[in-house]
Amino acid sequence: MAIKIDKKITGYNVVKPEDKVAATPVTAAAPKEAPSAEVIQMHESVERPETLVGSTFKIKSPLFEHALYVTINDIVLNAGTKHELRRPFEIFINSKNMDHFQWIVALTRILSAVFRKGGDVTFIVEELKAVFDPRGGYFKAGGVYMPSIVAEIGGVIEQHMKNIGLIHDPEMDEATRKLIAEKRAAYEALDSKKNSEVSGTPAAPSVDAAASETLTFPPGSMMCDKCNTRALVLMDNCQTCLNCGYSKCG
Ligand SMILES: [Zn+2]
Repeated sequence: MAIKIDKKITGYNVVKPEDKVAATPVTAAAPKEAPSAEVIQMHESVERPETLVGSTFKIKSPLFEHALYVTINDIVLNAGTKHELRRPFEIFINSKNMDHFQWIVALTRILSAVFRKGGDVTFIVEELKAVFDPRGGYFKAGGVYMPSIVAEIGGVIEQHMKNIGLIHDPEMDEATRKLIAEKRAAYEALDSKKNSEVSGTPAAPSVDAAASETLTFPPGSMMCDKCNTRALVLMDNCQTCLNCGYSKCG
């Protein structure tokens, strides 16, 4: 193979077979090298393959009679290479009764178009999660507050993006994790002592039956403004969140 050299030759090296072998792993291990020309990124004209892989999430909201089923399908770009990328490609939402859901159809079409445009599509999660229903939101199992059904759709997309590695959870540091575990143990010890001394249990908050089964925080916990979860308990005259570790007393 002939290579034309345009510049002046200022030095040369003979590539020995062992150099080639040694050089290969170095380039392979090079962190985040600039994508080379043959790496396919997501863009508008990437054609939809015959088959896509995806996940379906179920949303059950007290605001709607029937459950919503959210399906997000992904395209795998550069499959089998180190540049393999799994990107959301399209989204569908289905329900038993779609009569009033022209806005859902519109939303899913726009979301799919955003996915296919490429670039950083994770911003839509925050946009959707910031939508508030004027009729008021609802609590999900586990005590997480959902300000609207749109916000929950945003939550589902976020979960999906985490599953495929597009969004990374900020690692909760070991110290915070330990602190929460300690606070929780202390609160539970305090709570059981209180219950054995005083007969009669405190009135449980009105959570729908399905949610209370899986409620992971003490009954009567208040809403934490930081993580939107009903996990704030009063300990030593200080409100502490058993979910994210937030404390009013710093
Ligand atoms: Zn919290």
